[in-house]
Amino acid sequence: MSGTATAEATTTTPDRGVRLDHWIDGESRAPLAGRYAPGIDPSTGKANGQIAHGTSEDVDAAVAAAAAAADGWRRMASAERGRLLHALSVAIRQNRDVLERLERADTGKTAASARSEVENSAQYFEFYSGLVNLPVGDVLDVAPDQHVFTRREPFGIVGVITPWNLPLNQAARAIAPALVAGNVIVAKPAEATSSTTVELAKLATEVGFPPGVINVVLGRGSEVGMAIVGHPEVRKVAFTGSVDVGRTIGHVAADRIIPLTLELGGKSANIVFEDADLTFAASEAVRGFTMNSGQVCSAGTRLLVQRSIYDEFLAEVARITGALRRGEDVGPMITEKQFSQVKDYFKIAEEDGARLLVGGADAPGEESEGFFVSPTVYADVDNRMRIAQEEIFGPVLVAIPFDSEEDAVRIANDSDYGLIGSVWSRDISRALRVADRIEAGQVFVNVWNTGAVQTPFGGHKHSGYGREKGIEAINHYSHLKTVIVKI
Ligand code: NAD
Repeated sequence: MSGTATAEATTTTPDRGVRLDHWIDGESRAPLAGRYAPGIDPSTGKANGQIAHGTSEDVDAAVAAAAAAADGWRRMASAERGRLLHALSVAIRQNRDVLERLERADTGKTAASARSEVENSAQYFEFYSGLVNLPVGDVLDVAPDQHVFTRREPFGIVGVITPWNLPLNQAARAIAPALVAGNVIVAKPAEATSSTTVELAKLATEVGFPPGVINVVLGRGSEVGMAIVGHPEVRKVAFTGSVDVGRTIGHVAADRIIPLTLELGGKSANIVFEDADLTFAASEAVRGFTMNSGQVCSAGTRLLVQRSIYDEFLAEVARITGALRRGEDVGPMITEKQFSQVKDYFKIAEEDGARLLVGGADAPGEESEGFFVSPTVYADVDNRMRIAQEEIFGPVLVAIPFDSEEDAVRIANDSDYGLIGSVWSRDISRALRVADRIEAGQVFVNVWNTGAVQTPFGGHKHSGYGREKGIEAINHYSHLKTVIVKI
């Protein structure tokens, strides 16, 4: 259905002939109000097709489709549900070229990033396809004349709201466990990066998922996202994104008394002791803050280095960082807003007196087209500086020296965030002591973020609550019922 443009910054005229529509009830649907917003190619800053600009009416249609599908999906034999999830993982791999192309067009990310994220998305469906009967309930010994058991039941309709940094990956991360727990989905990807979530829903329909089990509504967070969170038939929301929006959604969920998973930001600390494998630690430290150009919630953006090796270690980190190739090893910022935000932090770092080691605003190539920034390392940073406390969400590392184990733990935990962390030491007792004391949902020892789908993931403090990934996620997409039978 088409209509007339009514909102500012929207249009009904596709400039490159590519229109991306919602996926509702097993088919592509144009927005009911007929509005579209222009897409942007972050590698060039130029226009890139048109994206459906949905409204609450589109959300109503998606929820109605999901509601109609919910009972059939929940009551489908679990093995059959598992087979469908597995078929979707196969389809993702078979269509990896298309998915990688779409993801790169929306985000500008490197070929290697797109490839590993598409593969990771397939792994979510593969992993959860085998877990259709987990977690199991318990039989409780209460009294001789009672048979008491617990079982996990789905919530019904789950809203999945995702950001723009790892679009397909984060959609798959929430959708796969929610489906395996017996829920149906209304998803909303970030405006600028909607293509692969729609493609995922389309592939699901092609491999045999009943219509309405996975629906995708495109549009703005304040409009479509809010309509999903506030919809009376949506019984659980999984949100990945910023702290501010997480808090806004949290208020609505509290009013509605529905459960919420919040996967928010991070300012994760990478703690390197003098006895670590420094060569590997340096390369992982660089991977940790430049992966997806630093646009990863779990990026290792605070590097805490023991003072005895501080200069030598930072020299190696700066050397590896300086050798990264634009477009090959690091892509652009995905949105123009993010691009200007990172540039603002270059100014803030300078004002705060941080010592620039490599990158920064004046690095070679800064004037080139697209939303690229140079991977940047600041040394001698005080942990109270804004660049050490605030999530920049770009390839910017702040290095902070420390003297003792106590000192390292204190600095690492002196943050509103608590998503992940890592410890580097050949002394495994020390590594485990520090891992125990870091306030974060995941801690790595002698490696940086391995990203395995089996490992529960989520935050402490402002990084959020609830857990995605692993068997644990199924607990967050289901609730427990106790059945008491008089015998
Ligand atoms: P964002 O919070 O602006 O948007 C995230 C999603 O929420 C988008 O789909 C957006 O349209 C939607 N949204 C915006 N306002 C809304 C509202 N009022 N109601 C409902 N939905 C709304 O975040 P972003 O800028 O897209 O992503 C960057 C942030 O996401 C960073 O802070 C990053 O750390 C965080 N993030 C966290 C994780 C994690 O797993 N912890 C993963 C990736 C990104």
